[in-house]
Amino acid sequence: MPTLWLDDIGADDLDVVGGKAASLGELTAAGLPVPSAFVVTADTYRSFIEASGIDTELFEAVDIDSDDSQALAAAAEHAQDLILETDTPPSVREDLLSAYDEMGDSDVAVRSSATAEDLPDASFAGQQETFLNVSRADLLDRVKECWASLFTQRAIYYRQEQGFSHTDVDIAVVVQEMVDAEKSGVLFTSHPSTGAPTAILEAAWGLGEAVVSGAVSPDNYVVDRESGDIEEVTVADKKVMCVRGEDGETIERSVPEAKRTERVLSPEEIDRLLTIGERVESHYGEPQDVEWAIDDDTVYVLQSRPITTIDEETAGSADAESGSEATNATAAGVADGGEMEAPEDVRLTGIGSSPGTVTGTVSVVTKLDNLDKVSEGDIIVTEMTTPDMVPAMKRAAGIVTDEGGMTSHAAIVSRELGVPAVVGAEDATDRLRDGQTVTLDGDMGTVEQGTTVSTDDDEQAEPDPVAQASSEHSPVKPMTGTEVKVNVSIPEAAERAAATGADGVGLLRIEHMILSTDKTPARYVEDHGERAYIDEIVEGVRTAAEAFYPRPVRVRTLDAPSDEFRQLQGGEDEPSEHNPMLGYRGIRRSLDRPGEFKLELRAFERLFDLGYDNVELMLPLVTDAEDVLRAKSLMREVGIDPEKRNWGVMVETPASALCIDELCEAGIDFVSFGTNDLTQYTLAVDRNNGGVADRFDELHPAVLDLMSRVIGTCREADVATSICGQAASKPEMVQFLVDEGVTSISPNIDAVRDVQHEVKRVEQRLLLESVR
Ligand code: PEP
Ligand code: MG
Repeated sequence: MPTLWLDDIGADDLDVVGGKAASLGELTAAGLPVPSAFVVTADTYRSFIEASGIDTELFEAVDIDSDDSQALAAAAEHAQDLILETDTPPSVREDLLSAYDEMGDSDVAVRSSATAEDLPDASFAGQQETFLNVSRADLLDRVKECWASLFTQRAIYYRQEQGFSHTDVDIAVVVQEMVDAEKSGVLFTSHPSTGAPTAILEAAWGLGEAVVSGAVSPDNYVVDRESGDIEEVTVADKKVMCVRGEDGETIERSVPEAKRTERVLSPEEIDRLLTIGERVESHYGEPQDVEWAIDDDTVYVLQSRPITTIDEETAGSADAESGSEATNATAAGVADGGEMEAPEDVRLTGIGSSPGTVTGTVSVVTKLDNLDKVSEGDIIVTEMTTPDMVPAMKRAAGIVTDEGGMTSHAAIVSRELGVPAVVGAEDATDRLRDGQTVTLDGDMGTVEQGTTVSTDDDEQAEPDPVAQASSEHSPVKPMTGTEVKVNVSIPEAAERAAATGADGVGLLRIEHMILSTDKTPARYVEDHGERAYIDEIVEGVRTAAEAFYPRPVRVRTLDAPSDEFRQLQGGEDEPSEHNPMLGYRGIRRSLDRPGEFKLELRAFERLFDLGYDNVELMLPLVTDAEDVLRAKSLMREVGIDPEKRNWGVMVETPASALCIDELCEAGIDFVSFGTNDLTQYTLAVDRNNGGVADRFDELHPAVLDLMSRVIGTCREADVATSICGQAASKPEMVQFLVDEGVTSISPNIDAVRDVQHEVKRVEQRLLLESVR
């Protein structure tokens, strides 16, 4: 039989219908009001691949090294195409369509139900596909798409990593009548964390998707199950709802004004839902999280799962507890496939690396995910961001990473985009789930479950740290003798950075321009030619040079460690280093690869030709004068006259600070402190190692002593001094440097206005002291 009706499914059918369908069958058998459905069994899928003869090719196609991302992408595409392009056998087709007709001629939901329930996280096995509002004409295609979901990159990778054989995993598909819900939500039959006999109901208007996606905060009802008293009712302002559009698709609509603050569930409805909840709970013998919908006064059970979040330790004392605290955990979490799960009172801490507070829906992004999954206003949760995530980061309302510090890619880019961020939150990707509503505080470095700030549209409007910073002070830019510039790492941020009124760009990193091509410089040149490589750099720099003209823009030549290059196409030719921070990066790489370096220099030359005389050239990670003199002669080779252009070096190794006399003699116009590196090398504290982060102190006397000596020598040699490391945003560093007589300070975009004020305050104090 290619299909089985829910009524015919028993506990023994788990292997042929998968977990999701088995549980619906069980609920149906218990007499609960489940919308009717049939299941395309796992045997049907298996006979489809075997009878059509694609099985051998399919399993061979996915027998690859899953760490090879290109091979993985190609394997997934090949396997999915095989399934999608193979005709469904006529007998299966007929059976499916006649089952559909038997259910009545209305649209259905089609969901995959993987049978590999023994996998630790079955969602990875390929059960994440769900299609709503599927018509008869599309039914067969959607079923095949569910089958093909067994072979997404993510699913292949996961099975391979976990040591599961691809040949052992099958998939069933549930085809279920769509309920045109007037109201829907979730019912926890016991308190989700204490297990107390307190039922929690969440309810919103329309289809469940608005609650599931976190687009709406639902009403919340707390009921004492013993007395039946409704102890607490929190009526939310429900601005949006999901409804069925004219063509059957799910669309988001504004809730009519009169219904926004209207209570969704009447006491009678709560009573009916509780009765059903109790039946589900007694059927399973443990507290349940029940997904429900009400259509035309009929209550439906859509799904039920045990509540897995009950804390065993507190469960004993649960009776005494009030259930009201659960009201904080309003928006239900969502597992893959849009299923609701019990809310956990999540609270994470990390480093607040880009200011602002924002509430949004979690979108967990793994390296294999399609970035299209990140929608406008989502909160990206990922191990660490990469350059190819920048378009998604722009759409996001906030960013949370497991790894990284204040100078990580996520921190730098989010600041420049004005997107609040918390980095280094350690296990965020494990503890947060797609669809959960969380509030992120980029100042405090916290991420909390639910909406802990107002969700008023006005207050939720794009937080703009630059605007926020300005609004705390007078809008007039303070006049300072010390220049206050700004750091820029992505050309997209140039306009926004220029609007701060900064005196120029103190550091324009070009790494992003290169890394975002997803190719190492060598591979890029091999594939597209030298001219195109130069164009990439010219276009990126030009965006900033144009936005700031005639204010100076200090452009640093390439400084990415080899581990970042190794992740790109062509990365296999990069050295594999034990400690890339002490390795092949900055000027040492450039001098070792003069061919590539000269292409960068030719980009500068072109910019000068184009009239961007505000562009300055800065060399990273120099150790001594020899580095500088060799670079200078390469500049000459491409036609740049060092005497006519403004150029200088980063001081970010203790050696360069100690050799500052020689560096000045080499003819530089400026130095800029890279305190991120200067601190790591002076204190021997890896800047990316969270384990020693408490020892990373840019204000350490040893670091300040080196800086003080450099400023003194440079003043005598008439060489300008600046800072462009993260510490430039710290008031204590600003005070120290202005006292020492630094020429300019280049902080992050969000700190510009504060630094301008701080500089002004210190300068005024110095003036006062001089006349007293
Ligand atoms: C620094 O080291 O302080 C610096 C600005 O360079 P980066 O963070 O890019 O290494
Ligand atoms: Mg550096």
